[in-house]
Amino acid sequence: MDTIVMKFGGSSVADNEKLKIVANKIVDLYNKQNNIVVVVSAQGKTTDNLISQAKELSNNIEDREMDTLLSAGEQISIAKLSILLNDMGYPAISLTGWQAGILTNNTNQNALIKTIDTSRILKELEQKKIVIIAGFQGVNENMDITTFGRGGSDTTAVAVAAALKAKNCYIFSDVDGVYSTDPNKEKSAKKLTALSYEEMLELSSEGAKVLHNRCVEIGEKFKIPIITKSTFNNKPGSVVSDIIEENTIKSVVKKEVSRISIVGNGIIRNISAIRKILDIIEDEKIDMLEFNVSESKISITFKNNVEDRILNRIHEEII
Ligand code: ADP
Ligand code: ASP
Ligand code: MG
Repeated sequence: MDTIVMKFGGSSVADNEKLKIVANKIVDLYNKQNNIVVVVSAQGKTTDNLISQAKELSNNIEDREMDTLLSAGEQISIAKLSILLNDMGYPAISLTGWQAGILTNNTNQNALIKTIDTSRILKELEQKKIVIIAGFQGVNENMDITTFGRGGSDTTAVAVAAALKAKNCYIFSDVDGVYSTDPNKEKSAKKLTALSYEEMLELSSEGAKVLHNRCVEIGEKFKIPIITKSTFNNKPGSVVSDIIEENTIKSVVKKEVSRISIVGNGIIRNISAIRKILDIIEDEKIDMLEFNVSESKISITFKNNVEDRILNRIHEEII
């Protein structure tokens, strides 16, 4: 029997109607005598809403508590999908990240998977259950919940596929593949039939959110082809694998980065200010692309858009 991993993103599980479409897709493959492992994201804008709600409560949220909160979004999705499949007469079981044996390091909100103990998943598959796993989360060595960064459910799917030596890992989304640019922003975007891991990793790292960059790294390491398809049509998707096509131009991507600059004559010699700034960046665990210092300016370019709070914190610390 083949094992197939199917991942459904937030827009694919946003409401009951969409959950039914997802359930039918799962049942189709289950009825063809496959072991089915499903990974789901939080419904619709749930994760965004949980972040805003937490920020209404505090400007100084403990990382551990934020992860406990954010992981709840995916927990709702797994339970709802299992309830629906059971109601349709299929034996589904929901597993949170820790129940699925996903162990991570301690980096809250950007955790890396260390190992997956597949014994529980395998036990449920042996009993012919459809295993529904909460994406985007695991536990660290203290059994505290960690999350993988925005879009991280893709990484759960590919990591689980690698751990189970699955035949296929499908990433179902609101787009039917990887395009030559974001198809929701440019109508003339063309669907790509195939990309190499390397090309996809560049696209994901530069802002094409269709696949989480870590899932591509894991796919490459464990040679898992990643097939992106639409939840809402049956068109062929895009396959990300180790097949390399020479001399092709694949895609154009835009990324919002942030730049914070601190200006003042002689700043290049102000070691204490430079140290304070670097300490804040380390403490906030934000990824830096460049740190430039000149006679009268320090400019820091961040990998992603950073919140105003970071500027305020630097201002408070050094002015
Ligand atoms: P999901 O909720 O299923 O995880 P995401 O929102 O994370 O889906 O990713 C899908 C989105 O990625 C699409 O709706 C699309 O707007 C965006 N996207 C950006 N660049 C690309 C691209 N090159 N090809 C396909 N989709 C892209
Ligand atoms: N729910 C998480 C997010 O919104 C993870 C995911 O969707 O992959 O970022
Ligand atoms: Mg996503």
